[in-house]
Amino acid sequence: MPTKINSAGKQQPYVPKGNGDASGEYGDYGSGSNKHFQSFKKPTRSNELSKKQIREIGQYVQNNFRDPLNNKSSLIRSLRWYGGSFGDLSKFTDEELSNIIDELYNLKKSDELYYFKDGSKWKLTRNIGVLEKAGIPYYTKEEYDEQKEKDFEKDLSNTKTQQKLYDELKNEGFKGAISLKGINDKNSIEIVNSIKTTIKEFSFLNDSLISFGTEKGASTLLEKEYRDYTKTSEYQKEIDDYKIKLEQWNNGKTFTKEEVERHFKTLYLRDNQRTTSGKFWGVCGPSKKDSRKSWIQLKNSQYGDYDETVNKKYIEKYGYPANVGASFGATTYHELGHAVCNYILGGKTIFDGYVDTRTLSYIEEIKHKYNKPISSYGKTNISEYIAECFASHYVDGTNEQANEVFNVLLNKWKGMQK
Ligand SMILES: [Zn+2]
Repeated sequence: MPTKINSAGKQQPYVPKGNGDASGEYGDYGSGSNKHFQSFKKPTRSNELSKKQIREIGQYVQNNFRDPLNNKSSLIRSLRWYGGSFGDLSKFTDEELSNIIDELYNLKKSDELYYFKDGSKWKLTRNIGVLEKAGIPYYTKEEYDEQKEKDFEKDLSNTKTQQKLYDELKNEGFKGAISLKGINDKNSIEIVNSIKTTIKEFSFLNDSLISFGTEKGASTLLEKEYRDYTKTSEYQKEIDDYKIKLEQWNNGKTFTKEEVERHFKTLYLRDNQRTTSGKFWGVCGPSKKDSRKSWIQLKNSQYGDYDETVNKKYIEKYGYPANVGASFGATTYHELGHAVCNYILGGKTIFDGYVDTRTLSYIEEIKHKYNKPISSYGKTNISEYIAECFASHYVDGTNEQANEVFNVLLNKWKGMQK
């Protein structure tokens, strides 16, 4: 097979274009003119540098190769020494390596920093010439931010249907972060429909529900929630305050804005971690920053595909159905009931109870009037009672007790808007 010098300075086998002229030389198996090359293997690429090798060797050469004339042999030795991390370099002669070094060294550096993606990780570089040579796309800071945002969006969903659902919710004004990772499309549709239906009546949820997702998507979701938060003016103020505090704690040492933001982010992610354990269908909690705002987390792992069997078990055990757990949609309504209470009853924390005791007492009255549990789980406390009524109103709609409690909440919200 003929060879040709490739861009790395290496002789490389190649197959000539066309199908006839060279048949005597390499088309041994062909019988007709179109079959001359059918038995040829593709030219082997095993002794070319891979993208990854070009990038890593290029980086190494530019970082370590200050004097190309005098130090080339030591650099070649060093490349062979580090051979393992650069891949197999044994196929290259010293002369070939010398050519590779020359070429990679001559690629220009940029003074600006650029981003590129290495596997699943983002990295920073000045060495864009080498990236170009390796055919690796690189990004400016702005492009990187945009790209990273897209990555996040992708990471929050398993399926195209879910992405479509998020987009619909966003278009209708929902500002919270959402991820239904681990839940199938059918249930995802049901969940998002429950959210939409509730928001139609309680529009404040567009802003007060900061995060809705599954356990499986929790960490990405929190990261997304944090990113959303960094775009607010509230965040800018908090960062300024935090800088002052941080410097006080460190006896007057000064911190750059980047350092402050890094510290702050670590703290935020730690404080807001929502690792929930035990048997539950969903959890709704108040935001640490503003207790009238809420986050909701559904447990996808415990139920897999999740169906009525969960609720059947409950009925068997307690004799009363629980509205929460009847379906993903019902669980969503139940948790949204908590989120509605957090907002309109002035949630302090889920344990401290609500501020608006007057509205609560109306609900207590209804509870006494009917004197019949709305569900077994609704017997837990007044907060669960309301959430179970809320779910029952939407899922069933025929339970008078549930409807009455729901109307107290709705009227309270109507009153707040006047
Ligand atoms: Zn609950």
